[in-house]
Amino acid sequence: MFWDRKAETMSREELSKLQLALINKTISKAVKSPFYGELKKQGKIKKIKSLDEVKNLPFTEKSDLRNNFPYGLLALSLDKAVRMHSSSGTTGNPTVVFHTKKDLEDWAELLARSMHMAGLRPGHVFQNMMGYGLFTGGLGFHYGAERLGAMTIPSGTGNSKRQIWFLKTMRTTAVHILPSYALKLATVLEEENLKPEDLNLKMAFIGAEPHTEAMRQQIEKQFKIKAFNSYGLSELCGPGVAFECPYQTGMHLWEDHFYPEIINPETGEVLPDGEEGELVMTTLRRNAMPLLRYRTRDLTKIINEPCPCGRTHRRIARIKGRSDDMLIINGVNIFPMQIEKTIMGIPGVGSNYLIEIHKEDYMDRIHMKIEVDPEFFSGTLEGMEKLQKDISDALKTELLVTPRVYLLEPGGIPAAEGKAKRVADMRSSEQKLS
Ligand code: AMP
Ligand code: ZN
Repeated sequence: MFWDRKAETMSREELSKLQLALINKTISKAVKSPFYGELKKQGKIKKIKSLDEVKNLPFTEKSDLRNNFPYGLLALSLDKAVRMHSSSGTTGNPTVVFHTKKDLEDWAELLARSMHMAGLRPGHVFQNMMGYGLFTGGLGFHYGAERLGAMTIPSGTGNSKRQIWFLKTMRTTAVHILPSYALKLATVLEEENLKPEDLNLKMAFIGAEPHTEAMRQQIEKQFKIKAFNSYGLSELCGPGVAFECPYQTGMHLWEDHFYPEIINPETGEVLPDGEEGELVMTTLRRNAMPLLRYRTRDLTKIINEPCPCGRTHRRIARIKGRSDDMLIINGVNIFPMQIEKTIMGIPGVGSNYLIEIHKEDYMDRIHMKIEVDPEFFSGTLEGMEKLQKDISDALKTELLVTPRVYLLEPGGIPAAEGKAKRVADMRSSEQKLS
């Protein structure tokens, strides 16, 4: 029933002892990086005597990773690092994360543990419908499933008919899939005149983007499977940070690899278990890029009640939202500022724009409404079409997703009272659930 009984069922006391030792070990590793080395020099990082003292360590922000790009947080020499991943677009510096061989092994181990917990076993056929590349969802799950011993199909994203063909012909039992894509795939299944009974699918691991309990239930109903919530972020490794067990009441956060805190995002104050706030994480075993008190910006709470599955690692609740303005579009992280910087550099673009996010055929789609510069507006239709294409191409290069671009006449976007509202997220009202 357990992948690693000792690790998964360790007493709370043992876990706390282990965490304290590993945090101090992490501190000694981290301060070898230029970034944390400097903080140590300033007296901001000291070893701790009890877990209560974690709160005295400084936070690490995504901006710290960006400002110290590329190697400022690398805590060992480059010849020990074997892989890099990155989680967001190219405006300014992207967030890059490094791994040693051991980091990759630990990561695969955590995913093997997570998927085993949900029921994946050797003999299963696992189809990984996530992006292979800089995004961690593809390779992370891939190596985890192989470590577990499941026959793994790296089918990647898109091409729904082929995905379904694999599902059917390979007798796939488990998939890793974006929740929004799972809903879309269900409609393609229907178009192909197939029923869930024609497949051998038993479970889906869904994550990388926010989704509701209703969405999960819809996926479970449409494919007649169990869908397990999977949480992680590139900065900590990727997926495999927290995962649902068969009881599906929150995600067990692997506390022998990460030390979680929940803080008030406004004040930074640490909140007790059960209270909602921002998840802050300290890595306990990472070598290439250990992180102290990393602000994930994800809003959740820690569930401290024992779980009937017997695992002692506390759970986090489904992610409620973010404490920053990051958007997740079909699993891709996008900041509104990236969009602004990209379009404002294009001649012909006026001063006002609106980013609308819609659900189209179950998937997310950005609609960019952009006012044209008054001088440019009197130009030719051809000129307008070119402008539209330039904007679309630039955004596609920057964001890796294709937006729909609508050009509006100057003044076409109603003036906002006070601060301009740049983002209108219509997804929750458009989400079709039956
Ligand atoms: P990335 O580093 O590109 O994998 O993105 C990580 C971010 O995706 C997290 O910080 C969350 O905001 C979001 N995310 C990942 N998994 C989930 C999940 N299961 N539910 C909600 N949001 C998620
Ligand atoms: Zn459990």
